[in-house]
Amino acid sequence: MSRSARLFVISGPSGVGKGTLVTLLRDRRPDLGLTVSVTTRDPREGEIPDVSYHYLNEDEFDKLVNEDAFLEWAGNYGNHYGTLWSEVNPYLETGRSVILEIDVQGGFNVRKAFPDAVLIFIMPPSVEELEARLRHRGTESDEQVAKRMARALEELELAPQYDEIVVNADRNVATDELVTLIERYETDERN
Ligand code: 5GP
Repeated sequence: MSRSARLFVISGPSGVGKGTLVTLLRDRRPDLGLTVSVTTRDPREGEIPDVSYHYLNEDEFDKLVNEDAFLEWAGNYGNHYGTLWSEVNPYLETGRSVILEIDVQGGFNVRKAFPDAVLIFIMPPSVEELEARLRHRGTESDEQVAKRMARALEELELAPQYDEIVVNADRNVATDELVTLIERYETDERN
């Protein structure tokens, strides 16, 4: 059966474990591309420039917006984040599917610009579990955790508008589901 390269958006509230699932997914499917987003926020400890994100200042970001260099971009927590076409195209042009790990607002913008995109939402098993995971991560202050939780609740309400929902209760089960789902879209021309 032939496979066609597809663009997959993976979204979900902060702390849901998207990053871990994407890493596990790419262990299983090393051919899947992953875009590096641009952000105007400061690097967190342990993040690597041009691997975690491309870090730019607001002026540099605005210049790229004016040049139509972004497939999508959005504002988050007072900073800007975006995905460059130049991050996506090299994969699709060489027949490889690509993953964008971005927020819901960005996901809807991708759908408008690229209707063939498949939007996958990663759900926490419960709101309580999400808050516990976010606190456990320890990278944010209480105030930031509260902001991210408020934002998470808004995002959860939008999940039904996504094409697919995967619940991350067990990371291995969730990864299996992602592998199956992605393969299904790659091999089914009708989706
Ligand atoms: P963080 O600051 O925790 O790395 O990311 C904050 C939020 O920005 C997350 O919801 C993350 O998915 C989202 N994000 C990361 N990269 C992009 C991007 O390129 N575009 C959009 N729209 N959101 C992004």
